[in-house]
Amino acid sequence: MDSATLIAWAADQGYDQLAFFVDYGQDNLDREFACARINTQKFGVPMEVINIRSLRESFVGRFPFPLNLYDCTVKNPLGQITTFAMSALVAGIGVLADRHTLMLGIHHTDIELRPVLRKSMDTLEDIVNYIVESFADDEHFKLMLPFGKTNRSEVIKIGQRLGVDYVNTWSCHENVGSPCNRCEGCEERREAFSLAGVKDPQLEAGGIKVPVRANRTSVPV
Ligand SMILES: [Zn+2]
Repeated sequence: MDSATLIAWAADQGYDQLAFFVDYGQDNLDREFACARINTQKFGVPMEVINIRSLRESFVGRFPFPLNLYDCTVKNPLGQITTFAMSALVAGIGVLADRHTLMLGIHHTDIELRPVLRKSMDTLEDIVNYIVESFADDEHFKLMLPFGKTNRSEVIKIGQRLGVDYVNTWSCHENVGSPCNRCEGCEERREAFSLAGVKDPQLEAGGIKVPVRANRTSVPV
């Protein structure tokens, strides 16, 4: 939801975008990817797939983390390190692609729940910028959180105004046909739509409306 809204927002602001999809072997990979593809296509944005799926083995194989990888990366305190590492990787690949501004869909509700997120993103900007400037005096890296002061329910309202179809945004952590309505992703989504005073179109549709077995390859610039 947040990423789809971010793409719509950046398109509305006139940014020339390149989207990144990180395949880290998440349980809901097929559905997340199908939604990412439909939303980038809708707003005319090329998408680059970063495949670090093999890391999943390290996360859920040997160590006593929960089996759901989302729990490892988001809920587990050490998972914040993984989030930081993934963001650093995307920033680095972005710089290689001659893109010096990275926007993330992190919103105020995320930051309230995980205060370390804000600090780690500020630090990330400093580190990447330090590296970029050491190579080229006239280059500058910027990390933007356009929804950093916006609650998740307000993000939904922004997306609605900009034409995001929330049927095709996946929040459930499970790889199931229709949302499980039990996991944290489903709970947070339900709360956000309720606060926004909007009906979740995905619940009415009973799932997403795009093919979920699409090839997970980049869509060229
Ligand atoms: Zn769920």
